[in-house]
Amino acid sequence: MQMKNNLLDYTMEELQDVLVAEGYSKFSAKQIFDWIYKKKDLNFDNWSNISKKLKVHLDEFYEITLPEVVWSGLSKDGTRKFLLKLSDNETIESVLIPARDRLTQCVSSQVGCAIGCTFCHTGTQGLKRNLTPAEITGQYLKLTLWLAENVHVEERITNIVYMGQGEPLHNFNNVKKATINFLDDHAFGLGQRRITLSTSGLVPKIKMLHDFPPINIAISLHSSNNDTRTELMPINKAYDLERLFEAIKTIPLKAHRRITYEYLLIDGVNDQQSDLDGLCELLNRRESKINIIPFNEYPGSEYKKPKKDVTIWFMNELNRRGYTCTVRQAKGDDILAACGQLKTEYDKINLWKPEEEKSERLRLF
Ligand code: SAH
Ligand code: SF4
Repeated sequence: MQMKNNLLDYTMEELQDVLVAEGYSKFSAKQIFDWIYKKKDLNFDNWSNISKKLKVHLDEFYEITLPEVVWSGLSKDGTRKFLLKLSDNETIESVLIPARDRLTQCVSSQVGCAIGCTFCHTGTQGLKRNLTPAEITGQYLKLTLWLAENVHVEERITNIVYMGQGEPLHNFNNVKKATINFLDDHAFGLGQRRITLSTSGLVPKIKMLHDFPPINIAISLHSSNNDTRTELMPINKAYDLERLFEAIKTIPLKAHRRITYEYLLIDGVNDQQSDLDGLCELLNRRESKINIIPFNEYPGSEYKKPKKDVTIWFMNELNRRGYTCTVRQAKGDDILAACGQLKTEYDKINLWKPEEEKSERLRLF
């Protein structure tokens, strides 16, 4: 049997091209986008302004497949964590993080990750495969529909961060297509400032960001010292700090926008005075924002979370020296919300049971 194409894989331009090539009007792509992304009606049968002939054609060659929610958990702080199952039974995580005026979704870009950072749960799994554009935007569409059904019809996810599993720039083309649809007014229509891509520093792909929609970029820096950074992130062997910053200079930035540097603070590893001084030597005050992420311990992790007073000292000192610096609050600790943890625990028990029963089992960890 021939595999059907997932309509969510297409950007507007691509769908227009294929439909025209298949003998249909360019305008029908706009109508299809309207049903999917605006009306959020995924059933071809309901698409009243689409001709019978095109519907038959769509039925034969196309489908709309979304990831399935196999587990969800609500943290005391309002963070919701989801384990999503893809059509080949692989699982990925997605997290919804509420703040005063926004609801941010942390999306995955790959199943597993090839970069192998020593502090990261996902990194220990290696790369299974890239996600398709449909599986990336599908996380957003699925959780939008889930919220409407389970929380409130008016609940909107306002921001996207590529900070789930995977290295988004390692899956450049699919993440690019997904981002085009996140931004496109005919599709999800999110503003450029509402999307942030976080990268571990894949230098050749950073140099290709001129060919990527203009969204916020975050660099996972984690250390200003090459030896320490290599210990934490093996990618630093291939692309050390010098090459990384040379590449960062090529990122096209819109006026007044800055690069965010993520700094995972780990007890005794990168939280000393010398680390702070090194960071200040490396980063330009006006062009950078620093986001300190206290390391989130997980069962079996070889690192320790930083001391509270050290974290506050690190942030205050950076602020005092003129940097814009914030500490990211740990979210959803009680539901294993740090990168890759839920999936790993879930894979251990490897059971496909109804949602309720599974959540009981997951809480055992
Ligand atoms: N691969 C990309 C994006 C996904 S990881 C990247 O590395 O930038 C997103 C963020 O989660 C990274 O900044 C990473 O350092 C952080 N992270 C990974 N493991 C963590 C842990 N155990 N505690 C806190 N943050 C973690
Ligand atoms: Fe991959 Fe990011 Fe985890 Fe490193 S921190 S292993 S790049 S997901």
